[in-house]
Amino acid sequence: MTKAKQTAQEEFALLELSMDEIVDKVEELSGENVFDCYQCGMCSAGCPLAEEMDLLPNQVLHALQMKDPEAMSANSMWICASCYTCQVRCPKGVDLAKVMEAMRQIYLRKRMDHVSLDGLSHREIRRLPQIAIVASFRKKTG
Ligand code: SF4
Ligand code: SF4
Repeated sequence: MTKAKQTAQEEFALLELSMDEIVDKVEELSGENVFDCYQCGMCSAGCPLAEEMDLLPNQVLHALQMKDPEAMSANSMWICASCYTCQVRCPKGVDLAKVMEAMRQIYLRKRMDHVSLDGLSHREIRRLPQIAIVASFRKKTG
């Protein structure tokens, strides 16, 4: 198991929520019904960041439907750029960007930030585009 994967699983445990509670929360925060998805895969076929994700967008929904904790420990929600390509392509009108945002919010509302300036070296802070750092803060901190 990679260190990142282990950390993700530890963070999931810290949420102290059952998958039933998480799916209810995702639906409440996103306004989407994750069970509307019938796994056609159109979202994943068009997602520009699918290659970077542990679970493809349709697999995230499948994991939520199955109440599989992998949905919450995969990196997919943090990789998603909220570009809405998946929503446009979905024949069922599922807004996956909102689902991913709701999943992120479950962590961020527990003050479990996913970016920390303390974790960056001086070199990284100097070299990273400032807009990338600001964008990361907006998306990955509560
Ligand atoms: S909104 Fe997220 S999941 Fe959907 S296509 Fe864009 S990057 Fe992929
Ligand atoms: S395009 Fe819609 S119905 Fe098809 S797999 Fe993706 S979310 Fe599910």
